[in-house]
Amino acid sequence: MMRKDVSALIQRAEAGADLAREELACLLSLEGEGQKALFAAADRVRARTVGDGVHLRGLIEFSNICRMDCCYCGIRRSNRRVRRYRMTPGEIVEAAQSASRLGYGSVVLQSGEGDALNPEELAGVVREIKATTPLAVTLSVGERTREEYALWREAGADRFLLRHETADPDLFARLRPGRRLEQRLQCLQWLRELGYQVGSGFMVGLPGQTALTLADDILLLKRLNVEMAGIGPFIPAPDTPLADAPAGTAQQTLNAVACVRLVIPDAHVPATTALGSIHPRGRQLALACGANVIMPNVTPGRYREHYQLYPNKICLREEPEHCAPCVTALVLGEGRFVATGPGHSPRWTA
Ligand code: SAH
Repeated sequence: MMRKDVSALIQRAEAGADLAREELACLLSLEGEGQKALFAAADRVRARTVGDGVHLRGLIEFSNICRMDCCYCGIRRSNRRVRRYRMTPGEIVEAAQSASRLGYGSVVLQSGEGDALNPEELAGVVREIKATTPLAVTLSVGERTREEYALWREAGADRFLLRHETADPDLFARLRPGRRLEQRLQCLQWLRELGYQVGSGFMVGLPGQTALTLADDILLLKRLNVEMAGIGPFIPAPDTPLADAPAGTAQQTLNAVACVRLVIPDAHVPATTALGSIHPRGRQLALACGANVIMPNVTPGRYREHYQLYPNKICLREEPEHCAPCVTALVLGEGRFVATGPGHSPRWTA
């Protein structure tokens, strides 16, 4: 495409026009000057819609026990090298309370899809956190039954993160043996019906993915009308079937972050840990092209090394007290500020 056409396309996107799949694929492939213009447009939209505040969500990785066998994931069921752990309900509540003391307005409870806690126990944890802190609570525990989602919502959970992973149904089925995209979308639909703020998202650079697949990923997020869109590079994990596949690149991932900001202007968009793990300034670069959320790890140090979805994850040797000032400095260094409060979706009328 000619340079003039690219700027016209970016202008249309910035003005909120619906883009065709091919047009999005073009934006997703930009390099050089065109990419700079894309990032600048995304940054303007971010400033206009969600402002300069960066929301911090404390991430508690409460168990790595999982019955799924996702080909990309380091804690997949068949990986015998992983030492499995579960935090107790008391430890999880304590980690959330310390996140609150560190100044975070919300926590994300994430785990593999296992029976680390039974549904009632997890509901109890949510209830206890809601009763003893002002935190917004997000769950990220995978594909479950509608009844379980309903139970946790009644217990007070505000949000749920369930990335669709890839919008290509064949690729999805290949990468997640025994599972289908349709089932994951059904879960997202239930979460929506139950009144959760919904986060979804995808990985960039999966083997077999193209710019058109990525365009579909973004159009799917728009159709789901997500409150949060998480996008990170695929990073090959040892002892998985994809161990030797090439990783997604920071450039591709940043293009996707910028495009999602243009397509869903008021979404919360995290500068992901995975991006920070493949590029020393990955999270800073994401904040400059559309992102407005960071999810610092608040998992107690002794568990962190066992929750390696991918290798060389940043902050593995830190404790929660070290991550808070470090992330604040990162945010201030980009000319932004740390937002206070639970950081609900701007669409949310609580
Ligand atoms: N079991 C939950 C939580 C998954 S972990 C669920 O299924 O939703 C959170 C996210 O990490 C996943 O949704 C996936 O997008 C990402 N992830 C997993 N393995 C990865 C890898 N090798 N590289 C990059 N991201 C990965």
